[in-house]
Amino acid sequence: MTMSQVNLDGVHGQETAGLETFRMFIDGEWCEAISGRWFESKNPYTGAAWARLPRADARDVEAAVTAAHNAFVSGPWATMTASDRGLLLYRLADVIAANAEKLADLEVRDNGKLRVEMLGQMRYLPRWFQYYGGLADKIEGHVTPIDKKGMFHYISYEPIGVVGAITPWNSPLLLTAWKLAPALAAGNTVVVKPSEFATASMLGLAKLFEEAGFPKGVLNIVTGFGQEAGEPLVEHPLVRRVAFTGGNLGGRRIAELASKDFKRVSLELGGKSPNIVFEDADIDAAVKGVISGVFAASGQTCMAGSRLLLQSSIYDEFMHRLVERMKSARLGDPGSSDTDVGPVATEQQLDKVLHYIEVAKSEGASCVLGGKRSSRPECGNGWFVEPTIFADVKNDMRIAREEVFGPILCVIRFDTDDEAIAIANDTSFGLAAGVWTRDLARSVSIPRRLQAGTVWVNAYRVVSYLAPFGGIKKSGIGRENGAEAIYEYLETKSVFVNPTPNISNPFTLQ
Ligand code: NAD
Repeated sequence: MTMSQVNLDGVHGQETAGLETFRMFIDGEWCEAISGRWFESKNPYTGAAWARLPRADARDVEAAVTAAHNAFVSGPWATMTASDRGLLLYRLADVIAANAEKLADLEVRDNGKLRVEMLGQMRYLPRWFQYYGGLADKIEGHVTPIDKKGMFHYISYEPIGVVGAITPWNSPLLLTAWKLAPALAAGNTVVVKPSEFATASMLGLAKLFEEAGFPKGVLNIVTGFGQEAGEPLVEHPLVRRVAFTGGNLGGRRIAELASKDFKRVSLELGGKSPNIVFEDADIDAAVKGVISGVFAASGQTCMAGSRLLLQSSIYDEFMHRLVERMKSARLGDPGSSDTDVGPVATEQQLDKVLHYIEVAKSEGASCVLGGKRSSRPECGNGWFVEPTIFADVKNDMRIAREEVFGPILCVIRFDTDDEAIAIANDTSFGLAAGVWTRDLARSVSIPRRLQAGTVWVNAYRVVSYLAPFGGIKKSGIGRENGAEAIYEYLETKSVFVNPTPNISNPFTLQ
């Protein structure tokens, strides 16, 4: 073991009945739930439980938020300079880099995504902590040329307090880093409630926080379910900022709860993103782009390009190439570098995806590939759905309007640019969109007209710590990533200083 390699097995737990036991992380201690209850995490590739985790409730949340509040108001974190906070984040980035493979293995066992994808994410993760670590001491207030004679006025940016972060199972640590890195760089403290379906890697990351030397209470993890642990976190009076990534139902509930105390909230929600292929596109590249948009990660990405809008003049040729390519996609062990498509992450998700396949068939969409649970021997008892393509989809069908979160592609035909834009924007979501064209005018005009937080031209599913990400309409509120995201975790303070008090009329606005 090198200096910065950390043993993440079970994160301080013993194996019980063949399951790895994990503990949660509150106030720098590894602990069980106060209730003594546990829940299990299952491996989507085998369908079998592999880990047990503490099932937190409001009492554990109380302990975690209190620890985070104490760390915010007193102790080393509260008095640390922004530069030193930045250095801690750099140190964390180094420890993550040294342990990327272990974190990736934890994620694959929990959510069944391809190891090659999770390892790529884990190797990229340090960049978030480096970028925001570098930004920590570059947040400068400023003096205004205030229009009040003799008065001095300045603006400063201050941390908000305790941040409650609630995250989903599809890219557990990446999406947590999008919140943690700016929140901590800004000087806040954080309580994370990871998904009940993908918790282990977050506990692994907490171990790395310990290793990097973060003061106790700065990061706390409560493990468990949305209603039992997530809701008390959102409602806790000492939590001043809520950062959520997940589905629309959860997002709506969180917005309702947070609004009771007028808490600041960001919501990164779902999508039904259009991937538009024009007749002048590079067809080979576009076929790959469509595949990466919806079949990578078995379609379990918020930004999935689940609606393919295909220009009529290339419809038949494109469909032929797409279907032929997907026929040879390899399903199976997500840990193998030969696998193209892994299982979906949960049994509920499997049922949901299969239900939507039946909905699409009953609506008259024509299934040209897949359309069932996979019975390939290499898929064993895992939760696999055959990559599925529906042709002749109308944009008013449920399969084109509701987020499925699985390897299901709807193909919709269009003739003109105006028609493509009208179909693309005719959705209650607005997270992302893809445009495939070699025409310079289109590559500029189409993104302008699309109602989406992110648009890719001749690319799909690209993210960066430098590029703001978030949705419009029902895809959410707020942006993560990029320099502006740090202000999501800062309060703006306006200070007037009157060196020579002289109040002419106390009954009027000065
Ligand atoms: P989910 O909403 O079921 O769960 C997300 C998290 O919220 C989990 O930790 C869950 O325990 C918690 N939660 C659920 N109900 C809650 C409640 N009432 N109060 C507090 N917490 C609650 O979502 P999921 O199934 O884990 O993830 C898939 C969804 O996430 C999809 O809709 C996907 O589009 C979305 N997503 C969005 C983005 C983005 O950046 N926009 C990224 C990834 C996933």
